[in-house]
Amino acid sequence: MTCRLDTAQVERVYERLFDAYGEQHWWPADTPFEVMLGAILTQNTSWQNVEKALDRLRGAVLLDAESLLSMPREVLADHLRPAGYYNLKAGRLAAFLAWYCEQGGYAALNALETAELRSGLLGVHGIGPETADDMLLYAFGRPVFVIDAYTRRLFGRLGMLPPDAPYESLRGAFEAAIPADARHYGEWHALIVAHAKSACRSRPVCAECPLRGLCPAALRQEAVGRPLYSN
Ligand code: SF4
Repeated sequence: MTCRLDTAQVERVYERLFDAYGEQHWWPADTPFEVMLGAILTQNTSWQNVEKALDRLRGAVLLDAESLLSMPREVLADHLRPAGYYNLKAGRLAAFLAWYCEQGGYAALNALETAELRSGLLGVHGIGPETADDMLLYAFGRPVFVIDAYTRRLFGRLGMLPPDAPYESLRGAFEAAIPADARHYGEWHALIVAHAKSACRSRPVCAECPLRGLCPAALRQEAVGRPLYSN
């Protein structure tokens, strides 16, 4: 399935989100390596819980690949408890760390072309497209557009993309419509997340939404005189 986005429409969305929420200063981690750990740990949990798990790890070992790999699996899992699914995540983290060391660490990985690096990441147990793209964008500074559930929900409601389209079709649509720039893509993703948490929630708060004038869901409700969702 091929998806397309209109560049002018997408830019209007960005401008309104940026005006409403401002610069987001993502990703909230200290080093590229922590970004990568966080990208795995944040699967199905909030960043707050990831922070707690990272703090526990920091208190136990040096936060580097060799030290974490040398940790017995059950000890690693125990430190990851705050992030949920801790046994599963310990297994995924161990698989990633083993691959990371085999490849020669950050400098060696960063020397790879984006397509090769992405393909390598996707070959690691437990790393799917969203996690790989989080790492590529925020740890390696590559212009790769991250598609998450918030992106699907927002652009589906805006009537600009089919929310259930395959990941690669959606990623392709954004990357074709928005000039390749890692910093800008990072800001885009952060703004989508901010908006999904603030207004375009599972039960949307349309009455306060900066995208209201662009959104068919809101316009339909206004046309039939029904109140927009609000808190
Ligand atoms: S108007 Fe409502 S449905 Fe549309 S983007 Fe805003 S919050 Fe989401």
